[in-house]
Amino acid sequence: MRVILIKYGELTTKKGNRHFFIKKLTENLRHKLKNYAVKIVVDRSRMYLEFLDSDLERLESIVQNTFGIYKYHLAYMVNTNHDTIKEEILKIAREKVFQTFKVEVKRSDKNFLYSSLEYASLLGGVILKNIDGVRVDVHHPEVTFTVEVREKMSYIYTNSIKAVGGYPVGTQEKGMLMLSGGIDSPVSGYLAMKRGMRLDAVYFEAIPHTSLEARNKVIDLTKKLVQYTDCIHLHIVPFTALQEAIYKNCRSEYCITMMRRMMYRITSLLAEKNKALVIVNGESIGQVASQTLVSMNVINSVTNMPVIRPVACLDKLEIIDIAKKIDTYDISILPYEDCCTVFVPKHPVIHPHLDICLKMESEFSFDELIEQCVENTFTLKISDEEDDEYQDLL
Ligand code: ATP
Ligand code: MG
Repeated sequence: MRVILIKYGELTTKKGNRHFFIKKLTENLRHKLKNYAVKIVVDRSRMYLEFLDSDLERLESIVQNTFGIYKYHLAYMVNTNHDTIKEEILKIAREKVFQTFKVEVKRSDKNFLYSSLEYASLLGGVILKNIDGVRVDVHHPEVTFTVEVREKMSYIYTNSIKAVGGYPVGTQEKGMLMLSGGIDSPVSGYLAMKRGMRLDAVYFEAIPHTSLEARNKVIDLTKKLVQYTDCIHLHIVPFTALQEAIYKNCRSEYCITMMRRMMYRITSLLAEKNKALVIVNGESIGQVASQTLVSMNVINSVTNMPVIRPVACLDKLEIIDIAKKIDTYDISILPYEDCCTVFVPKHPVIHPHLDICLKMESEFSFDELIEQCVENTFTLKISDEEDDEYQDLL
């Protein structure tokens, strides 16, 4: 029988937490596979899936994109018994075209008749004897037959397919992702989930200065991200009144800094309200005026909540590579304006002073506007199912 044999990645290094990690991974996979006729069998060092051949392609795509899975093999599972293993390995070898090969045996059943080395050379001999024109090359074989001998069942495979790795989503608590329509923040969300975090997302919009298309873009980005988890609550903040007040009351070169201080304040409040423990955003050191270290310091000082910046130290091209891989790039480059880009001052301050920010903030009453933003925030639940609730809301 053919199975997908899954190897757990980094989580095997977390000794004490191993059980918890495997349990989460199993739950996550079970959820993603619920529409397929799949049997999941789990043990300490691996799990395998029994499946219908017609589903293989779709199952592989799910397995490849599930955090916590490091690699997998399409393996043949047979009874642990020399005759059966021999027959199966010959069957696999006959279906392949190759000249050089090696056999590798991993034996966890210490009662098995042969040692790993003995058994590898015995099976190598079987292949040499039965298949014409092939020879052993232990250093650079075209095909490696791996046989994992376990107590009851053994697995034979010739391939090893890389998956995304990371930790299963849900092995950490929740973060609040500041999601704009740009390239960086969806990539940050992806990288945060890869560390096992769950996410809610917050999007600031300034209608009528920003459009419904811009909102839809953020919804579409959230739908891409939700593929890696089960559900993301997207909190949409009506930011217009506060943004206009900033532009009316603050020095123009400080408007972006002030706007971002307000965004951080609101994000922290929404995070607390929704039980998120950290903020996640797409800031990248030096990319724009508001992302110099001085700016980050002045902006960040409004909150005590940890701010995770997964792309802080990546080059734009590295970020774009990931955006393309996770299929958010084409959505991100659609040209709808974000509230950060609608009234960009000609010369945004690169080295803002905290005292100046505090003075401006003491001169207009933004507390109430912040309260209104939080109060008027509305939430769309975006899940990985087709029939999302948000469709009714638009
Ligand atoms: P991105 O490509 O993610 O839009 P950016 O390089 O355009 O980032 P900024 O506009 O300075 O940079 O934004 C920095 C970060 O602040 C974004 O990555 C995002 O996390 C957050 N952010 C910016 N605008 C918004 C918004 N309208 N709603 C929610 N978060 C935002
Ligand atoms: Mg942006």
